[in-house]
Amino acid sequence: MQEKYCCVTCGTYANELSHHYKEGVIKIIHCKQCQNPVDPYIELDDLLVFIDFVLLKLRAHRHVLFNIDKIKYNHILKLSCALILVNAYIKWFHLKNDQYQSIINHDHHIFYALEYGFYSKLLESFFEYTIRFGFIFMIAIVQYRQTWTREKSILLFRALVLSSIGQLFVLPLLIWSPDHRDYYGLLICFIFTIFCHTQALIASQLFSSLISFLSSTIAILLSKYCVSLFSQNSFL
Ligand SMILES: [Zn+2]
Repeated sequence: MQEKYCCVTCGTYANELSHHYKEGVIKIIHCKQCQNPVDPYIELDDLLVFIDFVLLKLRAHRHVLFNIDKIKYNHILKLSCALILVNAYIKWFHLKNDQYQSIINHDHHIFYALEYGFYSKLLESFFEYTIRFGFIFMIAIVQYRQTWTREKSILLFRALVLSSIGQLFVLPLLIWSPDHRDYYGLLICFIFTIFCHTQALIASQLFSSLISFLSSTIAILLSKYCVSLFSQNSFL
């Protein structure tokens, strides 16, 4: 049987998380290596898992990455599209604020210009994520060379997309304070994403802790720098 699950405590691979007997009895499987339950999170509510994930607990990251069967590959693709759209919206929102007076005056030329602005920000956002993920993929391929497989690519993409959810937390900030630029919120989101990527890469067991941190930091800084070359606001 393929060992597709992972012990959240020590990272050892396992065949199953729980065993169902005929009488309706469910037995939690213990890890061969550390003797702890392979995944205690299967007994917890999704909200508690989410809180631990946001608190950057390695156990929660292992659970989300390996042990949730209901997160399929098409969900990951949809989430990646949502992240690009949200990132584009955040950039476009600040661009729109710059032209706020024109919106009040119902200037139709400006309105079309704003719509065009959204598409340009969407393209910008797509390039930002492509550079960020592409850089980390490049490091992984250089490190593994011939032993790099399609399964590792899917695992890495899943880790990177799931650990980019910090971007979604900026949306409430825009709703709560639409009149001014909340750069502190963006900065916190930026730092959170670096640590979240790091933790996800460590959980994926593809990189060491040091390479995970360095590649995450460099990938994000590089993507921001490349986008700043053809964008007015380099920070966003
Ligand atoms: Zn274990």
